Amino acid sequence: MPDTAPPDAADLELLRESVRTLLRGHFGRDYVRKCDEEKLPPTEAFRELARLGYLGLGVPEAYGGGGGGTVLVAALLEELGHGFLDLAFWVFRNLAHGARAIASHGTPEQAARYLPDLAQGKISVCFALTEPDSGSDAAAVQTSARRAGAGYVVNGQKVFCSGYKVSDYVLTVTRTGTGPRRHDGVTLLLIPSGSAGLSASPLRTLGHWPLGTSMLHFHDVFVPEDSRLGPEGKGWPVLMRVLEFERLCLSAARTGAAQAALDDALAYAKERQQFGAPIGSYQAVSHKLADMQMMVDISRMLVYRYAARLDAGQQTVRDAAILKLYVCEAYKQVADMGLQVLGGYGYTMEYDLQRHFRESRLGTIGAGTSEIQRNIIAKTMGLR
Ligand SMILES: Cc1cc2nc3c(=O)[nH]c(=O)nc-3n(C[C@H](O)[C@H](O)[C@H](O)COP(=O)(O)OP(=O)(O)OC[C@H]3O[C@@H](n4cnc5c(N)ncnc54)[C@H](O)[C@@H]3O)c2cc1C
Repeated sequence: MPDTAPPDAADLELLRESVRTLLRGHFGRDYVRKCDEEKLPPTEAFRELARLGYLGLGVPEAYGGGGGGTVLVAALLEELGHGFLDLAFWVFRNLAHGARAIASHGTPEQAARYLPDLAQGKISVCFALTEPDSGSDAAAVQTSARRAGAGYVVNGQKVFCSGYKVSDYVLTVTRTGTGPRRHDGVTLLLIPSGSAGLSASPLRTLGHWPLGTSMLHFHDVFVPEDSRLGPEGKGWPVLMRVLEFERLCLSAARTGAAQAALDDALAYAKERQQFGAPIGSYQAVSHKLADMQMMVDISRMLVYRYAARLDAGQQTVRDAAILKLYVCEAYKQVADMGLQVLGGYGYTMEYDLQRHFRESRLGTIGAGTSEIQRNIIAKTMGLR
């Protein structure tokens, strides 16, 4: 199980500062632009993070990790998100769909097999839940895993599997049966991405190009029984735990990215002169920046409130939905307003606001749309 002790403020600041220094020094703006424009995964940066031990954050020390609770993980992802959102997302998948899922729900043998390699960045994990006919309605998954000999044979299709091109394993949500409730019969499998019968077709998207997203086709893919994470047919509660941690990680990374968009817009507003004065001196611009600051600050407060609640075991479904909804809507608005502050230059590929504009658009769609988060919140209020 993850370490839940709250971190020392000095440790937290040290972590933030060291990640900032690493990114600025070696993997700055030019590196991010190159990876984005050329659709290249940030492999050098990922390897360096692994070498410095960051990928072991939250991984129990007994398995070669550095330990540490959710607040530290959030701080790491916020800083990475500030520098390079796709790099933060690669790390988040390893921490959430890999390390956290296995440490919390795997057998001791699975922990011993995967966690040391995850902590050292030797393997990467991506996540396949969504299917062509099962998007917001996640319980409608059809990809079947049929018992066969000492394992399962998987057949079906997944869509939007992000980071598949850099992953060694796909945490795949399958159906091994049915039951009285729609959530019955769900089983999670860790499927090697090189399995015979598994193929991928990349999808062309508006953003998140460095890691990309793919359609996966499973045709009689055999996996041994010890690939199963959690109980057979009762994987829904496991999936819910994975998704609540996913919401925290994505929100932390996007809060960092929103801060970066704000930083760029603020610097530009102080520099750019029109009508003989910096544009930031005009209230129409300064109020935009003030609203952006407010949204970023509230996002950050929600992230660390939820991280502390997760560590204390006090998280609620409503907390997670409010976090996901607010942070993603805020990043989208901050990016849009930031682009407006830059005027015509914001619309060019020469500035990074266009990337924030594109990347932020996914937030209100992926990992549960804003409409679904509102449905969840409303349900906790006794509304249908
Ligand atoms: C770039 C990208 C990366 C992704 N990465 C991954 C990944 O790595 N792994 C993964 O498993 N999935 C991933 N996804 C999938 C993502 O989580 C889904 O797109 C999302 O859950 C929505 O599902 P859908 O696209 O099928 O939309 P649908 O569920 O068809 O929804 C379409 C619209 O209808 C609305 N809607 C649907 N039902 C309701 C309702 N009951 N009430 C109100 N409104 C409703 C939705 O809010 C939305 O606006 C990714 C998606 C994208 C675009």
